[in-house]
Amino acid sequence: LQLATSAGVAATTVGCRRGHDASAGAPGDASRRLHERLLTLDTHLDTPANLASPGWDIMRRHDVRVDLSQVDYPRMVSGGLDGGFWAIYTPQGPRTPEGEARARDEALQTAVRIREMVASHPRRFEIALRADDAPAIAARGKRVVFLSIENGYPLGHDLTLLRTFYELGVRMVGPVHFLDNDLGDSSTDPKGKEWQGLSPLGKRFVAEANRLGMVLDASHASDDVLDQLIDLSKTPVILSHSGCKAVFDHPRNVDDDRLRRLAASGGVIQLNSLGDYLIASTKDPLRKQAVEQLMARYGSWHELGPDARARFVRERRDIDGAYPAPRATLDDFMRHVFHALQVVGPDHVGIGADWDGGGGVVGLEDVGEIPRITERLLAAGYSEDDLAKIWSGNVLRILRAVEAAKPTAASADAAR
Ligand SMILES: [Zn+2]
Repeated sequence: LQLATSAGVAATTVGCRRGHDASAGAPGDASRRLHERLLTLDTHLDTPANLASPGWDIMRRHDVRVDLSQVDYPRMVSGGLDGGFWAIYTPQGPRTPEGEARARDEALQTAVRIREMVASHPRRFEIALRADDAPAIAARGKRVVFLSIENGYPLGHDLTLLRTFYELGVRMVGPVHFLDNDLGDSSTDPKGKEWQGLSPLGKRFVAEANRLGMVLDASHASDDVLDQLIDLSKTPVILSHSGCKAVFDHPRNVDDDRLRRLAASGGVIQLNSLGDYLIASTKDPLRKQAVEQLMARYGSWHELGPDARARFVRERRDIDGAYPAPRATLDDFMRHVFHALQVVGPDHVGIGADWDGGGGVVGLEDVGEIPRITERLLAAGYSEDDLAKIWSGNVLRILRAVEAAKPTAASADAAR
């Protein structure tokens, strides 16, 4: 996630060019029918952050141009998205007992909020705990809600909390976000590497995730952490929302050799649509300053009501007008997807577009437009079988491997 606490709003140009040519790139009927047949899961939905926003309703159709939100029930239906991993994101804060306790409480509240969303709309959403739940829930005509953790900071130094989150339904966990923490190194900490990979606590965290049956997620983690996760984890590793360094050199993206190692160990890269990781962005200091001042004036994005959000978006757009910046497009996103497919093949590639976390590009502004990804893949010659793997088969394969590797109650007792 990049959007929470408005961080992503700083980096990403607000979408506004949609509409004038919305029909020009509309997917064809055959491609659309195929898209509807597929089980489609996105592995990184930052939508839970919106659930806390005053006046924001998952059942109402929102407009990304008005409130920047990209996922709600009506747009999941119109975009043919069956569901995905709904992230419990916590920004990295102070590594103190007080900071950790605050983060723990916030993360627990987010987990509860996701479960309340499902409980409030039991005919529309259902919690998924196992890989096999996903197709069954979709067959019942509902949206699939897996839970995941982005940033292990809320665990503090208490790995027993991982079991608490498992019991709340979490089946995927990534150790870090933008900054190094007590579990390991981030790919983007300006201070550099603190641990040269995972910390000793981070290594125990890997073992505990394996024992509980959680997928380990290396998005946001440093290259060293990715290497060590592949080495240490008993089960395949996922990059839930990442890009290809060979296409655009950014610390959040992964080089081809590592992608090959990831794939050789059974892992998957799910491609992110966050513009700053797809193409070179502007470094204009005046633009940066204007955005920072705007955000300082409005404060926490997710505490803003609808009117304040609309005002913010208008002012944000004025800044884009005053200090123009290049904006990534669907072509740029697909360049990363196709590169990953070329390097590791359709058994190791999926989609984690970072919706509501800074994702979205010209031509792919919200979840309602994901049939365009299917259309592009078909046009490039990928088969229905390939698309089924890309849209959900690969991540469910990893989840099944994690379920199969989980020690049974009897073997856990024997080990005790
Ligand atoms: Zn993220």
